[in-house]
Amino acid sequence: MIRPYILAETNWNHLKDEQIDLAILPWGATEAHNYHLPYGTDNYQAQSMVESAAGISWERGKKVIVLPTIPYGVNTGQSDIYLDMNLNPSTQLAILKDLVTVLNRQGIYKLLLFNGHGGNNFKPIVRELGLLFPDMFISFCFFPPMLDKSKYFKEEGDHADEMETSLMLYLRPDLVLSKDKWGSGRAKKFKINAYNEGWAWAERRWSKVSSDTGIGNPEFASSEKGERFFNDVCEKLDELFCSLCNADLEDLYG
Ligand SMILES: [Zn+2]
Repeated sequence: MIRPYILAETNWNHLKDEQIDLAILPWGATEAHNYHLPYGTDNYQAQSMVESAAGISWERGKKVIVLPTIPYGVNTGQSDIYLDMNLNPSTQLAILKDLVTVLNRQGIYKLLLFNGHGGNNFKPIVRELGLLFPDMFISFCFFPPMLDKSKYFKEEGDHADEMETSLMLYLRPDLVLSKDKWGSGRAKKFKINAYNEGWAWAERRWSKVSSDTGIGNPEFASSEKGERFFNDVCEKLDELFCSLCNADLEDLYG
């Protein structure tokens, strides 16, 4: 069935008379995820979440449109990991400038970037775009902090961990290797503690931190955990989509 709120699926026949309030752009990455998850993990996750949440919002009468997912992200710290692809932050700005130009010209003034990859940092980019396009309201969200992960998963992690493995077991079990192939996701920390405490930051040289490219133990992952987390993310996302559709851009504060 053609979903009218997915730009890649819908058609001119439908869109010529439509008035969209909110565009949503999923943005992922193409990179190794431990031994057992596909390189497109971040894209599968981000796109499924956005599509599913947008479906709920659409059913509630909200005029949302999901733009095609951008499948490459910032992977500057993984340059020595085979076929990890990289888009520089400056390239992301250039891409967004072009896409926002289209939306701005056509009167779609609300854009939400849905980030599916920890290496993407849209804050400075959104600031810069905001100056260039004063009529636009551009914002972004990143799904792992949307919920308290400890209520869903036993082990902490931030890459190809229990959460990501659970999500992929739920969304695309056909693309997850059998459990005997899963690495431990054991990762080293900085010797300089300030970086571990979070108030100082440096990029991690990924291949020196993890031998299987994972950070976080996937051992206790399950499809059921993935489903629960996925549904709760979508429920919250739908609320954000609806609030954005309803929002008066001249009256955002109170
Ligand atoms: Zn990932």
